[in-house]
Amino acid sequence: MLATIDLRGRTADGADGAGLDYARVVPRAAVDVEAALGVVRPVCDDVAARGEEALREYSERFDRVVPASFRVPQAAIDEAVERLDPELRAAFEVSIARRRTVCAAELGPAGVDVELAPGARVTQRMVPIERVGLYVPGGLAPLASSVIMNVVPAQVAGCASIAVSSPPQREFGGLPHPSILAVCGLLGVEEVYAVGGAQAVAMFAYGVPGLCRPVKMVTGPGNIYVVAAKRLLRGIVSIDSEAGPTEIMVLADETADPTLVAADLVSQSEHDPLAAAVLVTDSPALADRVQAALPDQVAAARHSERITTSMSGRQSAVVLVDDLEQGLAVVNAYATEHLEIQTRDAGALAARVTNAGAIFVGSWSPVSLGDYSAGSTHVLPTGACACHSSGLNVKSFLKAVHVVEYSRDALAEVARHVEVFAEAEDLPSHGRAVSIRFADPS
Ligand code: NAD
Repeated sequence: MLATIDLRGRTADGADGAGLDYARVVPRAAVDVEAALGVVRPVCDDVAARGEEALREYSERFDRVVPASFRVPQAAIDEAVERLDPELRAAFEVSIARRRTVCAAELGPAGVDVELAPGARVTQRMVPIERVGLYVPGGLAPLASSVIMNVVPAQVAGCASIAVSSPPQREFGGLPHPSILAVCGLLGVEEVYAVGGAQAVAMFAYGVPGLCRPVKMVTGPGNIYVVAAKRLLRGIVSIDSEAGPTEIMVLADETADPTLVAADLVSQSEHDPLAAAVLVTDSPALADRVQAALPDQVAAARHSERITTSMSGRQSAVVLVDDLEQGLAVVNAYATEHLEIQTRDAGALAARVTNAGAIFVGSWSPVSLGDYSAGSTHVLPTGACACHSSGLNVKSFLKAVHVVEYSRDALAEVARHVEVFAEAEDLPSHGRAVSIRFADPS
């Protein structure tokens, strides 16, 4: 079911340029973000120019419904909470509590306070971003869990103003999905919009007069259009990482259970036809058993068509390697969003992974656990952004502000250094701003 890429006996790029670039061995999904930029640019420009009128037009075109009001009435949020199935409510509450516990720990020590010499003090204060816009996907699946993953870290960070947006749903009269509204209600979020895709990102970035004030930062996962809009409008607003169509890479040896490996690959393919499902293994026997397990699992899945498209796309494969060392090199080069390690000594291997959005160690830690209830974030960098970006966490919503406080004597101690430095950079007024303080007033 999955294509096989055989890397056995093939070495990675060396200094001489010979060998393979492991980062490109498994291609990313066929539709790239650069191509989607062309689609979302006019949408974003239009929302900036025509505000609510443009939102109406794109809602009709992309979501096939125009909400009576893009701002969700509080009564609809309250009703969604009231109608919540008790078992689902319990699942939401556990997820919220676990994410909140981890977020509180993510805050770490309160700031930094360093005295470099008597009277020479530099402190660093962490200041929450005042107003943030959080995107919750709702195209193929209503991701109520993404409300939790966005809102909880923003609340723990102390953001004063939090707005959520999610696509309007035709079968719910143009409101976002009730489970999304219910989680907003449970978390006390009152500013909720029924706007999806690139339009939502543009609404947050530019603001829409009479509807929504601009935000300072847009976060959250989404499809290729959401990711493209975030890339396009970065600079007008801050964004978190590009959290696009999901990716799972499983590093497994012959000790892994093929049925479980297949189930985990299927679980992430279920998200999106563009999702990537990749198995990296040094065991051809395991690869065969996973391939054999897939057809029945896929056929039995509710979204088998979407899963089949994802698995037969160029972004999904089984990669055969000589040993786990080579497997680790592939993992670090590819920089997947989700990495599962199902090998002996999985913890030791996990410690050597440098590029992955989140790592799931051992057969009792499937990615689905992280999607909902582990306490970790599920808003994670995709498309190799895990090389440089982190998943959404409390620190994403905080700015570091340095506070510098020197006494006369402390400044005097480094005054000459500043003057010399400034002269070397041909900025003598910089030096004078220090020397003037010590000049004889006469
Ligand atoms: P979505 O809410 O991201 O996108 C739906 C919106 O896309 C619609 O409201 C519409 O406005 C817009 N749209 C649809 N077709 C369009 C077109 N042809 N042109 C312009 N805009 C169009 O929901 P989704 O589609 O279900 O995607 C959710 C995505 O989020 C999935 O790819 C999933 O893998 C991903 N995800 C990623 C992470 C992560 O952390 N990386 C986490 C959860 C989900």
